[in-house]
Amino acid sequence: MDFLTPTRPTPLQELRDEVVQEAGVRLYIKRDDLIHPAVSGNKWRKLKYNLIRAKELGHDSVLTFGGAYSNHLFAMAAAGKAADLNTIGVVRGDELTAYSSPTLQYCQKQGMQLHFISREAYRQKECSEQVKHLLKERGDIFIVPEGGSNELALPGVGEMVQEVEQQLTHLTDYFAVAAGTGGTAAGILSAPAPVLAFSALKRGEFLREEIRTLVGDTALVEHLQLFTDYHFGGYARYTSELLDFIRSFEQQHGIPLEQVYTGKMMFGLYDLMQKGYFTPGSTLVAVHTGGLQGRLASLDK
Ligand SMILES: *Cc1c(COP(=O)(O)O)cnc(C)c1O
Repeated sequence: MDFLTPTRPTPLQELRDEVVQEAGVRLYIKRDDLIHPAVSGNKWRKLKYNLIRAKELGHDSVLTFGGAYSNHLFAMAAAGKAADLNTIGVVRGDELTAYSSPTLQYCQKQGMQLHFISREAYRQKECSEQVKHLLKERGDIFIVPEGGSNELALPGVGEMVQEVEQQLTHLTDYFAVAAGTGGTAAGILSAPAPVLAFSALKRGEFLREEIRTLVGDTALVEHLQLFTDYHFGGYARYTSELLDFIRSFEQQHGIPLEQVYTGKMMFGLYDLMQKGYFTPGSTLVAVHTGGLQGRLASLDK
């Protein structure tokens, strides 16, 4: 049950370098990558109240969805084990096996039951014949959506914002975060706090609507600024420019990033600082959402 017990706040560190100084801002990084040894960052925050609810409702199994490299599946497998819940992962791609990726291998090792379905069936999620069959066979299973992004994810992310508010003596002007499904950005907006969201996917404009739906409050969504030009070719894609930026950031600050989410967010944030986007005197908090198990080994070269 260690997963469900409250943890200490994750560290908040100030980042000082030439770019920050030139921009005249104060930049902090919220180290949610350190929140749990296996369930990192925003996935821990988003799963917390989902798993508490599953337990309250008396479920012993949780089912969720993801791709072969999904940080969410990885987190769910670890969290389910820690919270003593059986986990079932529905994986996109019926050509895959548990050995198709390190993520899937890890999930299986944690005891997650993997089901591989076609991309077409995957699009229908719990309405697909295979998943319907699975649910009927296994009885009452608690379902967590892809990415863990539902209304139960919001209060968990909100706790991160409250931690920062207690750690900083002055107000935060912006929280910067990488976005995949937008659940984390929605949680920060609901806290409520202003958000700079950096899409990790191509054509990330759809995120605005996703976030609006999750937040359910149009006034709060006005505090969202969505950046869609820092995707570096699309989800899980990268360029040598991005990798070079990550290496130099890591060298300068001694904090690891990865190329799928946090590297893109930080690249975007530094680009905006260099372009004079922020009023001098602003306070920015970049959220390190974790995901380091997917960090490219070639970043060390
Ligand atoms: C999943 C993930 C995100 C995206 O979070 P959303 O709530 O889906 O927008 C960002 N960073 C990391 C490291 C992630 O694993």
